[in-house]
Parts: sequence; C-alpha cells; structure tokens
Amino acid sequence: MTVQLVEQLKSLDQKHFLHPTSSIEEQQIYGPAAIFCEGKGIYLKDLGGKTYIDGMSSLWNVNIGHGRTEIAEVAKEQMEKLAFSSCFATFSNEPAIKLAAKIAQMAPGDLNTVFFTSGGSESNDTAIKLARHYWILKGQPNRQKIISRTLSYHGVAFGSTNATGIEGFRKFTNSPAPDFYYVNKDSAAELRKLILELGPENVAAFISEPVQGAGGVNVPKPDYFKEVREICDEYGVLFIADEVITGFGRTGKNFGIEHFGVVPDMMTFAKGVSSGYVQLGGVLISEKIHRDLCALSKGILMHGYTYSGHALACAVGLKNIEIIEREGLVQNAKEMGEEMLKGFQALQKKYDFIGKVRTFGLLGAIEFVKNRETGERFDPLLSPIAVKEMVKRGLILRTVTYDQDTLVFSPPLIITKDELNDILRIVDETLAYLQNEVV
Ligand code: PLP
Repeated sequence: MTVQLVEQLKSLDQKHFLHPTSSIEEQQIYGPAAIFCEGKGIYLKDLGGKTYIDGMSSLWNVNIGHGRTEIAEVAKEQMEKLAFSSCFATFSNEPAIKLAAKIAQMAPGDLNTVFFTSGGSESNDTAIKLARHYWILKGQPNRQKIISRTLSYHGVAFGSTNATGIEGFRKFTNSPAPDFYYVNKDSAAELRKLILELGPENVAAFISEPVQGAGGVNVPKPDYFKEVREICDEYGVLFIADEVITGFGRTGKNFGIEHFGVVPDMMTFAKGVSSGYVQLGGVLISEKIHRDLCALSKGILMHGYTYSGHALACAVGLKNIEIIEREGLVQNAKEMGEEMLKGFQALQKKYDFIGKVRTFGLLGAIEFVKNRETGERFDPLLSPIAVKEMVKRGLILRTVTYDQDTLVFSPPLIITKDELNDILRIVDETLAYLQNEVV
C-alpha cells in the first residue's frame, strides 16, 4: 500500500473511529499506533510493512496464534451451512450443543452447564444477574450485593464495570451502582469482615479472577482461594471465578482456578475459548445451581443475547479447543512460562530498576522501581516509556500503572523457545536503552 493511502486511512481513523480503551488525545495527534493488516503465528504486520511480535496475544486472547487456516476453513464451512439461528425459546444448533458439552468436560468439578455470550463483559454481567436471580428463586431476594477485589477487571458492561476494582473504569461515568463492594485483593479476612458487615443474607456473590490480568498479573497467595471458598460456603455466598483471561490454557492448566484446588459455583470465560477469531464467551454454572434452576424456574429465563449460542462462533470455538488439545498448548504454556520466568530473573539481575518479577503460565510481569528496598517508583513512570520503545523495536507489550509501574506479558500459547528469546532480547535491548538514556 502506498504511503499516501496509509495517510488517508489514518485521517479517516482520526475522524470516524472512536477507539476502545485508547487515548483520544494521542489518536488525534499521532493517528492510530499501527494499522494491522496481517497476522501469522506470534507476528502481526502493519500496512507500512513493519512486523511486530504480538507479546500480548493482542488482548490476552489470540492463544493459538494468528492466521490459522483451519479456523478459516471451519468458519467458511459453518457459515455456508448455518451461520446463525436463534437459541431463544429452546431452539438450538449442533455447534452450540457440542461446545457446551466440550467445555463442561474440560471444566473442573461439577461446572457442567453453559450459558453463551459474545465476550467477557457480557459473561460477567450474566453471572451477576444469574446469581441474583438464583437467590430470588431460592426465596432470598435480599441477596443482591456483589463483592469483588481491588484492581480486578471484569469488563465494561453495566454490571461488569461496577464489579471492576480498577476505579478509573467506574469513574468514567461517575454513576456508581448500589450493591457493589470491593475488598483488598490480598485479604480473605477482609472478605469475611465485609460479608459480616453487610449481613450474609444480603450478599449474592463474590467475583474474582484467579490471577488478575489487567490489574498487573497479580497472583494471589497459594491458600487465598481455599479461604475464599470456605468463607463463601460458610455464609452461603456464591463464588464466581472470572476466567476470561485465565481460561483455556493460559496458565498451564485448562482453567486458572484449578491451580488453587477449589471449584467455584460459576465460571465466566471468553477470549481464549475462540482465540479471538470470533466473538464468544460464556458462563459455566454448577450442577447444583442448574438443578435448582430446573426445579424452581417457571416461565421464561428473562436473560439472553441475540448471539447466545451463535452457531458460527461455537464451531470456531470447537476447532480452537481441538487445536489447543492436539498441539499440547496447555503444557507449552506451562513450560514456556517457566522459561519466561528464567528470562525475567536474568534481566532482574542485570538491571537494578527491576523490582519484582513474576509469571503464572504464560502471564508475566516485570515491575520497575527506583528503589528496591522502599519500592519507590520513577516519575514519570518507566513502563509507558518502555512500551513505546518496544513498539519501535517490533514488540507489543502492555503497561499497568494503577498502583505499580509494570510491564505485562501474555504471548500466544504456541510460542517456541526461540520466539520467547526474541521477546526477551528486545526487552533487554530496551531496558539497556532506558538505563543509558532515561533512569
Ligand atoms: N474479565 C477479564 C478478566 C478480562 O480481562 C476482560 C477483558 O480484558 C473482561 C472480563 C472483559 O471482556 P470483554 O472485553 O470481552 O468484554
């Protein structure tokens, strides 16, 4: 494409495209950061012909990597046969049925029934609504309150925004909803205290990511979720695990919560279920909740999206899971995650301005600090500068700056050791630049 055509697209973008979770100011000054036109494996290419390593699997979701022809083929086949038909009023389709059964088979414990959505936000809104509806059916209509953790991210629909513990997302509209509460992400004791303060008879559910993604790849203590499970059981509060990032192999197990040896009452998923090839998400509910719904629900379940159980999306989801299993990507996430940690530790030895490093499967974080002892941060923060420098060097990563100065990593689960070393090499080069020119 000629430079002139690219410039034309940039100005059309500035005028007509309001970007999600972006700086409008930057877009208006510089235009789009890149206009991608191709993807293959861990790589993305832009219209100027530049290649980037997609170190975030785009939005933590392109787990099987870009450009998989098998997915394109199954999508074409399904679209020609039946792209969409309604799942309202108990109508159904084969890919949706098979995908629900497959996910139930993969999920831990008795999480065996799926409600489909088109993404993570819808999934969390659905889980919140199902929890509240469940308690109405059970004769406890006061159980409306939802508790989540500081720095959690659950999406941007109405319920999921309000459950999100990163304040900026809630301040966006300055209209906090009632019945949403937040506890310190590291303290199960605080959860118990809050439930008692609110009155257990008023609390519907506690929602948490097994490992926080957007909040900074924050890994809880090993026994955190055991305590959470016990507290929820003690007070009859439903426990919802948000597996939107951690589901489908990202952490080295099918689902992140499996590392903690507990089974939630509901589990939400999206992203990795279709590796982003099409929009798909859902909520798994336990057999107990399903049994109660079957016994108590009369009339219509007054919740459903047009695209719940979308035939094309579900066919893609099935193929995506087939690829994850056939290629052993869950195991690869575990092994490459261990390699990534070794790489981070080597960088930590080399650069004093690296504080903590951590990985959890193929989720990773490197924190920057001015002083390792005090944890004092740089001003201005380093990670946004690092991310911009890495883009110049052909690596896309992300920064988290809410309560830390962190680089986060979430490469595709197909990544090889050589490709991982390429990422680490670019990070190393960039940090050397920061050391010489910035800190
Ligand atoms: N939950 C988690 C843990 C997420 O990371 C995200 C998105 O990043 C969501 C929910 C929202 O998903 P979506 O953007 O598909 O609505």
